[in-house]
Amino acid sequence: MTAFDLVLTSGRILDGCGNPWFWGDLAIWRGRIVEVAPAGTLRGRKVVDVDGHFVAPGFVDVHTHSDLSILVNRRAETAVRQGATTHVIGNCGMSPAPVDDDHLADMRHYWGRISDQPEVTWKWRTFAQYLRTLEEGGLAINVASLVGHAALRIAVMGLDDRDPTSSELDRMKELLAEAMEAGAFGLSTGLVYPPGCFANTEEIIALCRVVSHYHGLYASHIRGERETILEAVAEAIRIGREAGVPVQISHNAPKFGAACDATANLRLVEEARARGQDVTVDNDVHTDLGPPLTSALPQHIQERPVAEIAALLRDPDTRRQIQEEIVLDRRPAFGPVGLLKHGQWHRITILHAPNSPDVIGKTIEAIARERDRGPFDAYFDLILEDGHDVEAIFDYIDEANIRILLQHPAVMICSDGQVLAPYGFLNDPPPYSPCSYGEFPGVLERYVRDEPVLTLEDAIRKMTSFPAQRFGFMDRGVLRPGAWADIVVFDLERIRDRATNLYPHTYPFENYPHRYPGGIDYVLVNGVLVVKGERHTGALPGKVLRLLTEDQEREPAEIMQEAERELV
Ligand SMILES: [Zn+2]
Repeated sequence: MTAFDLVLTSGRILDGCGNPWFWGDLAIWRGRIVEVAPAGTLRGRKVVDVDGHFVAPGFVDVHTHSDLSILVNRRAETAVRQGATTHVIGNCGMSPAPVDDDHLADMRHYWGRISDQPEVTWKWRTFAQYLRTLEEGGLAINVASLVGHAALRIAVMGLDDRDPTSSELDRMKELLAEAMEAGAFGLSTGLVYPPGCFANTEEIIALCRVVSHYHGLYASHIRGERETILEAVAEAIRIGREAGVPVQISHNAPKFGAACDATANLRLVEEARARGQDVTVDNDVHTDLGPPLTSALPQHIQERPVAEIAALLRDPDTRRQIQEEIVLDRRPAFGPVGLLKHGQWHRITILHAPNSPDVIGKTIEAIARERDRGPFDAYFDLILEDGHDVEAIFDYIDEANIRILLQHPAVMICSDGQVLAPYGFLNDPPPYSPCSYGEFPGVLERYVRDEPVLTLEDAIRKMTSFPAQRFGFMDRGVLRPGAWADIVVFDLERIRDRATNLYPHTYPFENYPHRYPGGIDYVLVNGVLVVKGERHTGALPGKVLRLLTEDQEREPAEIMQEAERELV
């Protein structure tokens, strides 16, 4: 008589490696999968009949920004409800550690409103202390972290727009080495954002040499995503080559203003791979973003206090200079700015504006017409009225590029979202973040079930074993004896993303505020049920993953022997 903790019986098993599904049972013991067998053959203390639904590895989301939001919501609501069991944080150059006393204020400002939440204590200084903070309160999902280049820069030189001195660069290397020793998986950059955009290529190469020593990787929100996307991809590849690190190019869809479609940037990746360089790409499937209007201001202005920004915009000459700077885009700004640069005012739709409620749901083009102002002036006027609180939906990606990326063998699927919840601070006001709620179900609904852009098996592979392999989680992302039991059970017929709102938008907005997706029946993290019958169980079985920890180095065979001894 076997004594498995839990058996999932009669499922269609998708192993995560892209193989066709098969009818099977799966047994879990002490957090791990210990047996996979023909349907109806396994017995356990607890048996869940999954009734022919699909059983897949939990989704491994390698590009998220849950660093602080998961402290506010340790249940990781929007992650688990869409089937994600591991989040990689610290992306786009932003991690909340390391931080030092002298620059704590800069760091808090950098993270915005969430910095003031009581759960975000800012008691950590080192990367190791931050990872322990994550661990100590429990988490519903596993978390792995990159160390952000912006954090290193802020800790050493604040938000200064200049090169580091050689002793400052040495200090950044020391902090990076400390973070790698603590378990960071590599370095991330955000080269369109301050202060990442102030760094030259040599600075990043010097830092990546430290990452290479620890066998980590380099993940980058590259230095241009539109007109200069090819130069920016080439820079990321050069950094990887010269420093000797694998490269992950983050959310690499060309944004409005790019001269060519995604085949051009992917060709550079193919050429690097053909030369023997390990370069891969992630991408999400949303064509829009909902940032504050102020984030499209030139990088040296956007981080300033709102009163200072207002003073600049009130002066007619400075206002014209700012407009000119945005259009020239000499230091490439982040993707959505392409809409301002190219006058795509009909693609910017106001979502929040507490002091100007009449503009909600209207495009900048319509507001400019109504107010008899030029579109740039209408845009700047809204910032004067609402400061950082005016937010819009920027429709800045052509969906055709998303399909090209989805089908490319070097591209995995990520969300670029974060842990949110439809209650509490994380929903006040509701941020526009459809990817945080419905990324993976949306792919299964729209690009697998309704239109076969990907086969089910390949879509699952791009959400599980491929991202797990990329980050070295070799015992996750597959359903196989010895692997951790991170599992999602879903009904493809019922899968429904209730968060995505397609362009052109109508007001009131469809699927907003967002809701959890349908069709995700069970989610297990390290063998424990976190979602059961589309409800959160309250369990917090997630682990903080660390690069090259003893646990990850253990051979599955060793673990299997231990399991067999215990089971006799
Ligand atoms: Zn990014």
